[in-house]
Amino acid sequence: MNKNVIVVGGGISGLAAAIYLARGGCSVTLFEKKRHLGGRAITHLRQGYRFNLGPHAVYRAGIGAKIYRELGIPIRGGVPKSRGIAFVNGQRYKLPVSPWSILTTSLLSTGAKFEAAALMMKLPAMRTAALETVTVNQWLEDHVRDAQLRQVIGALMRVATYSGDGEGSAQVAVDQLKLAMRGVTYVDEGWQKIVDSLHSHAVTSGVNFVSSSRVVSVDFDGDEVKGIELGGLEVLPRNDTLSVAMPETAHDGARGTKLPATTVILAVDPMTAADLVGPVGFAAAWQTLKPVTLACLDVALSRLPNPKAIFALGIDQPYYFSVHSAYAQLTPHRGAMIHVAKYKQTPARTSFDDDDGETTARANPAARSDEHELEGVLDQMQPGWRDVVVHRRFLPAMTVAHALPRPGVPRPAVETPVHGLYLAGDWIGAEGALSDAALASARTAAKKILES
Ligand SMILES: Cc1cc2nc3c(=O)[nH]c(=O)nc-3n(C[C@H](O)[C@H](O)[C@H](O)COP(=O)(O)OP(=O)(O)OC[C@H]3O[C@@H](n4cnc5c(N)ncnc54)[C@H](O)[C@@H]3O)c2cc1C
Repeated sequence: MNKNVIVVGGGISGLAAAIYLARGGCSVTLFEKKRHLGGRAITHLRQGYRFNLGPHAVYRAGIGAKIYRELGIPIRGGVPKSRGIAFVNGQRYKLPVSPWSILTTSLLSTGAKFEAAALMMKLPAMRTAALETVTVNQWLEDHVRDAQLRQVIGALMRVATYSGDGEGSAQVAVDQLKLAMRGVTYVDEGWQKIVDSLHSHAVTSGVNFVSSSRVVSVDFDGDEVKGIELGGLEVLPRNDTLSVAMPETAHDGARGTKLPATTVILAVDPMTAADLVGPVGFAAAWQTLKPVTLACLDVALSRLPNPKAIFALGIDQPYYFSVHSAYAQLTPHRGAMIHVAKYKQTPARTSFDDDDGETTARANPAARSDEHELEGVLDQMQPGWRDVVVHRRFLPAMTVAHALPRPGVPRPAVETPVHGLYLAGDWIGAEGALSDAALASARTAAKKILES
């Protein structure tokens, strides 16, 4: 096969699609608007500590893990133990997530413990196909009798989906909960390790990379893709490890440079994808998707004041606390890398677009109050943390996923009505959630192109 394919976006979905296509015999050029690849999967190195953009974990039994195996991408790291603390009304309890903790927690009544144990046994084999039209709240009402246990299961679903939206899809929430029960991996050296490995596999498969180059539109004539238009070089590559191999026609880097193409994958966010295709009917729905957002406080400490307090979940409040360095290599000796987060109800645009993800919305009172709440969680879990901070950052509104399937609102498909134009990302396709959806849609897009 000698098909030329252009991939727009160098996050993990663009990278995975590019590898599948290049290995399938296509000639692939990937355009990334930033200097570096990775999108939301990047990791920043700050004084020897590795900062993912908020808490990131690979679902070990997810479609993403399968795709990494298929592509030969190693996922090395540690598997957090299923134990921790549950916060309810400012009180701490044992988090009921294993047979032992269910039995011994004082959070649940005896009746709720039996119900929790029975549910835990049933969940792994539970079929979810029929839950497509059911909301999380409906499912909890129908399947969990005890009110306190209902709150606990709701909190576990929240952590598994990153979404506290009770009107979200029960199918996604139950599937994610099942995956979470099979374990996650906190990745050594951060998700950058995955990005770097995807990049080097792409290079050896023959993918051409053009970084610091924004695609500004996709041209199509009727229902066929004709090419893309580049916005020119935005920042000259500095210390870049990317192979910046500009196609001949794009060398001047001027705005308006057009490149012919018959096959294009847009592996970007829905707003950008809609901008690129212009005012066409089929893209209108992309702009109304509901993103899943998180406020994150990422903190590097020179030591952990309380080495026993590793993981906690808010049950009546949407908080997450986890010492990722307890399981993954992310810090210098004795240091600690902690992610504290608050699941947000309201959609907000990502702060990721800023150069290194370290924007703060300090002027915004809501963001400031989120930051204080998250500091409060740290105060409870790791008293004295403020004295040992090496570096910290607050990300007020990260977009974890651009969309989760919702009852009656499926995510857009990989194929578009325009012949040769495909989509990939965590807002695309029916399979998986978060990065699993990004990778699954990337593989499907590549497969469809290779078969076409
Ligand atoms: C706080 C947080 C926590 C998360 N935790 C988890 C987790 O625990 N488990 C999990 O599976 N997933 C998690 N995720 C989700 C995961 O990070 C994303 O699903 C995944 O990284 C998305 O990859 P992508 O390639 O689809 O999109 P992106 O990473 O957004 O990549 C899109 C790329 O396109 C580029 N681009 C945009 N416009 C243009 C243009 N016009 N021209 C050229 N390039 C362009 C961007 O610069 C970017 O590099 C989390 C995300 C966040 C933010």
